Amino acid sequence: MLNRSNSHRENHPKVFIKTFGCQMNVNDSEYMIGQLEQLDYSETEDIFKSDLILLNTCCVRAKVEQKIYSLIGKIKEIKENNPDVIIGICGCMAQKEKENIFKRAPYVDLIFGPSQLNNLKEIISRISSNKKQSIFCNDTACFNLKDMPVKRESKISAWVQIMRGCNNFCSYCVVPYTRGSEQSRGVSEILAEVENLAQENYKEIFLLGQNVNSYGKNLPESATFSKLLELLNNTNGIERIRFTTSHPKDFNFNLIKVIKNCDKVCEHIHLPIQSGSDKILKIMNREYNVNQYKSIIREIRNNISNISITTDVMVGFPGETEEDFQQTLNTFREIEFDDAFTFIYSNRENTIASLMPDQVPLQVKKERLWRLINLQKEISTKINKRLEGEVLEVLVDKKSSKNIPNQLSGKTRTNKTVVFVGNEELIGKIVKVKIINSDTWTLYGELVK
Ligand code: SAM
Ligand code: SF4
Repeated sequence: MLNRSNSHRENHPKVFIKTFGCQMNVNDSEYMIGQLEQLDYSETEDIFKSDLILLNTCCVRAKVEQKIYSLIGKIKEIKENNPDVIIGICGCMAQKEKENIFKRAPYVDLIFGPSQLNNLKEIISRISSNKKQSIFCNDTACFNLKDMPVKRESKISAWVQIMRGCNNFCSYCVVPYTRGSEQSRGVSEILAEVENLAQENYKEIFLLGQNVNSYGKNLPESATFSKLLELLNNTNGIERIRFTTSHPKDFNFNLIKVIKNCDKVCEHIHLPIQSGSDKILKIMNREYNVNQYKSIIREIRNNISNISITTDVMVGFPGETEEDFQQTLNTFREIEFDDAFTFIYSNRENTIASLMPDQVPLQVKKERLWRLINLQKEISTKINKRLEGEVLEVLVDKKSSKNIPNQLSGKTRTNKTVVFVGNEELIGKIVKVKIINSDTWTLYGELVK
């Protein structure tokens, strides 16, 4: 049961926003808060003190969607207690579910999809005055972040969207339906945003796109992702450049050269493999096979020393046999990823995979996931162990969550978390840390003075 509080009105209207899913959603929420501040809203972490509740949702897997519906169910009580509160559901699940949300939760006021990010001020002003249940879910996505106010969570590292949407239609995935087709932002607009970030003292930028390798394809100017990285590498003040996600089918060997030659582009590539079985990759519509994937990895490792490679992988795709799964395990043993996001295949309605025969029973999927996670843990632990004794560059981003005085946490260029003792003034700086100890997820070290 949700706890109630009646003392929720102060001078400014308050917005409570909860974000689910990927980094792009996190960044979209930052743009929402930025716009709402112009309408005089201030952010609150207390849902009971809010005048506007926004759930920025994800629907890539059914479990998240169930969790969101359950939260929407709990919010009913808040609306009963305070009928003036505006409840808005936005993001990918809003785009997918549309009026189904009103059917299940008639007390929700507002539904809007990712394409409406630019119109948020107008949408909120309108509903605040007319109080009419409304839905804004255009299928034609508009991607225009130029001059849009943004309130970033971090003062050190900033998300920068370079493209949105996806044209790939992997047979299991809802993203092309919820985020629309691929659109890239113009080069000069991205450069200007990063220049501003540098002036605001940001040290790191994280370039975002569903498939960054195909950046520029729909632009009138001639632009590629590699060229963009080269240009961004010249921004004074920015010390690190990261990006996600790369698609193996579009992986460009020129990118390897750029990562190697551009000092600010970090040595970390997230390259989702999804499966180690050619049969499964084909029916996933991934458009590469395991040998092609392995040859990209070989090329990367032959050219960039100390690169870390992480991946996404799914178990229990329709038709995945024990033999297919063994091929995934073998591929993981051979490649030795630094880390992996491991998922149980989730059946998403209206995707091609949802209609495929031979859906794998949940128990089998769970058991495969468990085996794969255990293997990856062994590999990550082994890779981290090899780093003991090395001195690594760490961008300090926060106090370590363990609440021990003077314990700081930061990231290596290869995106590994390092915990060490140091003065809080180091937050936002790049320091050298000697790695003394490690476990599966974390390196522990001593500051090198
Ligand atoms: N665009 C990226 C790519 O192609 O690799 C990934 C974006 S997707 C939102 C993030 C990850 O979610 C995917 O790499 C995939 O492993 C996982 N995913 C997507 N659809 C899924 C589904 N139906 N069930 C389980 N995992 C899924
Ligand atoms: Fe989904 Fe495939 Fe597009 Fe990634 S590339 S967002 S997995 S359809």
